[in-house]
Amino acid sequence: MTMKQFGRTNNGTNDSIKWRLYFISRYSWSFIFNWGVCRVNYYLHMWGSAEQYLCEQLKVKDLHFWFESKISLENTKSKCYKLAENKGLTIVSREVCGSDLTYKTLCEMVYVLPDGREFPYKNDFGYGYSSSSAEYFHMEGNGDCDCNKSLDLQGIGVDIEEYACGNEILIKDFKITKVLGEHFTGDTNE
Ligand SMILES: [Zn+2]
Repeated sequence: MTMKQFGRTNNGTNDSIKWRLYFISRYSWSFIFNWGVCRVNYYLHMWGSAEQYLCEQLKVKDLHFWFESKISLENTKSKCYKLAENKGLTIVSREVCGSDLTYKTLCEMVYVLPDGREFPYKNDFGYGYSSSSAEYFHMEGNGDCDCNKSLDLQGIGVDIEEYACGNEILIKDFKITKVLGEHFTGDTNE
């Protein structure tokens, strides 16, 4: 819906009602989006030598958590750090505040070798990773260097030597998909 669609008519009253409806519908949509669809505002991921122990203690299958409040996140995090410390195990964490945190950022592309061979490659950045950062990584960042692209290909079983830094391996059909996760642990389950 664009402003132009309303245009100017000789019926001023009618136009003003349309404008009001336009702003109300715009505002309600953003309201529903922020408080309905995107109610999960915090994401916490923990890993380290304490991972398995913590999963057993908390009766969860992995250490990805989503919360509606910062306080819930801090409570779970400090509980885990204490449990790990008491066992002499280590834990590292990453937390993100924002929207769309229940979606994984998946990049798909095709690597084209100088000899013309083509190999599809996928990179899952996981939850709470912005599409723009993922795109930057592959298009302009470290991911766009031959040394890394050749290691990516070795990683998926392609028999090639490790390339020197450069741009001989090309990327085509680059695509980003936001993939909704399957299960959510945290205060959103309660
Ligand atoms: Zn390099």
